[in-house]
Amino acid sequence: MIISMKPHSSPEEIQAVCRRIEDFGYKIHTIEGVERVVIAAIGVGDTSQCLESLEALPQVEKAMRISAPYKFVSREYKNARTRIKVRDFEIGGDEFIMMAGPCSVESEQQIMTSAEAVAKAGARMLRGGAFKPRTSPYDFQGMELEGLKLLRKAGDAMGLGVITEVMSDRDVEMVAQYTDILQIGARNMQNFALLKGLGKAGRPVLLKRGLSSTVKELLMSAEYIVAHGNRDVMLCERGIRTFETITRNTCDIVAVPALQELTHLPVILDPSHATGKRSLVPALCRAGVAIGADGIIVEAHPCPEKAVSDGAQSLTLEQFDKMMRDLGPYLELWRGARVAQELVSA
Ligand code: PEP
Ligand code: MN
Repeated sequence: MIISMKPHSSPEEIQAVCRRIEDFGYKIHTIEGVERVVIAAIGVGDTSQCLESLEALPQVEKAMRISAPYKFVSREYKNARTRIKVRDFEIGGDEFIMMAGPCSVESEQQIMTSAEAVAKAGARMLRGGAFKPRTSPYDFQGMELEGLKLLRKAGDAMGLGVITEVMSDRDVEMVAQYTDILQIGARNMQNFALLKGLGKAGRPVLLKRGLSSTVKELLMSAEYIVAHGNRDVMLCERGIRTFETITRNTCDIVAVPALQELTHLPVILDPSHATGKRSLVPALCRAGVAIGADGIIVEAHPCPEKAVSDGAQSLTLEQFDKMMRDLGPYLELWRGARVAQELVSA
């Protein structure tokens, strides 16, 4: 169950509601918003009686049954799409958001050149890793703080938002100072200390699906972040590990609409890590637009053959520009479909 308190309820009123819920045998978890407190009641008990009893309390605005184990991120809790504001645009609204840039920030020139090209081609966000989760400890690990500064500088110079990965809960505050969106990598999807640490980060989060994680596990990880106080979460399908070896991962494309059925959070597709091959990236981008993703995060590099990470899947900046132009008609259809959906659900 989720119980919304009336705006500006007093601590005593909240306490009284919590006690009533506990009397019915449920555990409680409260989230304090700017205006109101919402309480999640977790466990098994006589839900119908409890709901009836809570609704009779004057300080309770709404009490509802949520059957999914992920409560706050479920469509049952909130039907309207979550729109996440970044700079002067929104993710999850009427604009398809393109995020692009190199896998890693490598130098000032590399990130500046990338930022200029992706901005000109129509991207809204610049991506670039400063802390890199590499399979081998001997591979490039990222420029860390210097990389964050360069990414911010390049984004600001071109009017782009920036997105970068944070790998440890100890770094959340520091990375948040430089970025508009915190990316949680596939390998950290179930790093629960990190997920909890994002609750108070004050920045939206892009949560990538783990290499061997189910859609439900992804939603449970998103629930951690929301339950710890941060509602601005978007999900990312980036391919999962299967027996197939022709691509780096297998893109579970249907996870995009499946997630949108189950959650109100925006869903972003990553065609670069999903395929591992630049030749396949444009086709998967088209699929992402056609299937109704809220945006795409794609790797593009001024000189992929010299990239320190993920060169094989990075588009050249020229290829990115061409792909954006080719996506034009698809994006038109996307906008029409999105506006129609909003009208139906209004
Ligand atoms: C990345 O975005 O460069 C990255 C490491 O992604 P993932 O966590 O999906 O592997
Ligand atoms: Mn990468």
